[in-house]
Amino acid sequence: MFKRMMTPFTKKLIFTLFSLFFFLVLHLLFTHHFTYPTQLSPVLYPGLTILLMVLHLLIACLLFMRVYCDSKRFYLVAIASGFMGSALIMTGTLASFPAWFTSRAAGSGNYNDAAIFMMFRHILLASMCTCTALFYTLRARIDGKMARLMCFLLVTGATLMLMALGYLYSSYNPLLSISLIDEYSLSWQALWQNKIAYFMIAMWFASLALIVHFSHLKTLLWIGIAVLCVSAIGTLIIMLSDSHTNSLAWFYSRIFETVSSLIILLVLLCDVFQLYQRSYQKYQISYHNSLHDTLSGLYNRRFLFEHAQHALKSASAEKPVSFVLCDVDYFKRINDRYGHLQGDKVIHFVGQLLLNAVRSHDIAARTGGEEFVLLLNGTSNINAMNIAHRIKSQIAQQDVRSSNGALPEPVTLSMGVYTVTQGNCTIEECLERADKAMYRAKKEGRNRVVNYH
Ligand code: GH3
Ligand code: MG
Ligand code: MG
Repeated sequence: MFKRMMTPFTKKLIFTLFSLFFFLVLHLLFTHHFTYPTQLSPVLYPGLTILLMVLHLLIACLLFMRVYCDSKRFYLVAIASGFMGSALIMTGTLASFPAWFTSRAAGSGNYNDAAIFMMFRHILLASMCTCTALFYTLRARIDGKMARLMCFLLVTGATLMLMALGYLYSSYNPLLSISLIDEYSLSWQALWQNKIAYFMIAMWFASLALIVHFSHLKTLLWIGIAVLCVSAIGTLIIMLSDSHTNSLAWFYSRIFETVSSLIILLVLLCDVFQLYQRSYQKYQISYHNSLHDTLSGLYNRRFLFEHAQHALKSASAEKPVSFVLCDVDYFKRINDRYGHLQGDKVIHFVGQLLLNAVRSHDIAARTGGEEFVLLLNGTSNINAMNIAHRIKSQIAQQDVRSSNGALPEPVTLSMGVYTVTQGNCTIEECLERADKAMYRAKKEGRNRVVNYH
């Protein structure tokens, strides 16, 4: 019901409202608590940068692991590369403020370098978000090894290029330079205020639009990536709102970015947990299927053999192990008269009756077409014979009505019983002897139990 209500449009609407709410709450929290700060700690900015760097590294590793574990999610390689590059570029940001690590001289740092690194980080992340959306929509075409290698080389090449450009335009390289912040007045330059900030906001809007359009925000992960775009737009708007770099907006935007990275990290952890949960459920189902016969719901031949090997090792006169081999009489006739589908219903019905007739620690298995074996651990020959007789009469009493249509006509069983009282018998020998007894039951007129002598 809830899923049916979540049309792509409602999802987008909820996302927009949630984003606005997220933006508003952070804004209110921040303005309420930090309206008139006396002096910001000089370690706040590098502290937040280190935190953000660690978060981006973690996000990149989780995304790369996701791609490695599930090749269908190859498209995430672009955003993973973006986060890795962003974390590495932040080492440059940290190096721009060496004074913060050695003294408490607030404000001493290369703000222009920090702004250049931030600009390249934004360009890198926005372009990688766009690439992720494009890879997602072209995922059917990017399924060969060669195509994937090309895409991988493309995104790592673009990441390395943007990282290199960040270092080349910073003060590390005197040949190229770009001035975003005036180092004396610490105010944003016109290039940033009038062009670059708007260009980056446009880039993020384009990424957001592509992501919402192509993914329809189908999964939590896409919502997380969309939150990243929204928060980047918010971050840039906050920075644009202030002309001075040494102001609160600089810290405010970094907090904003850190919170959105935390959200992505949580989403990824949730994704990993869901993946684990789903694969564990699949493992349980396939484990169950590997031991059971699907038609009758009983154990299969493989399980019977494995279990019998253990039981036979400890068989003794005090702890006898009994085998009861059952075969439905004239079963071919049922198939011929009523069809195979009805024959299957008979097999299922007989199987369930056998299962209910034994104790929970006994083994009831289907070993062939309409052949079943009961392994009764710690059961003497007399008791096994009694159990077999009880089952024989129970089956013979069933008709169309009592079986709810599963038996088109009453059926009977021929059963052979063999009991092991020594530990040196193999499962093949035991089944062969029970089979011989069962064939004697057939020869003697069917619908009977014969003990092996
Ligand atoms: P008998 O009393 O001598 O046992 O006679 P029978 O007709 O039961 O002979 P037999 O045991 O040789 O016949 C087994 C038949 O079971 C043959 C095969 O067509 C049918 N069979 C085997 N597996 C399945 C199955 O999964 N579903 C159905 N419907 N029939 C099966
Ligand atoms: Mg038969
Ligand atoms: Mg048979």
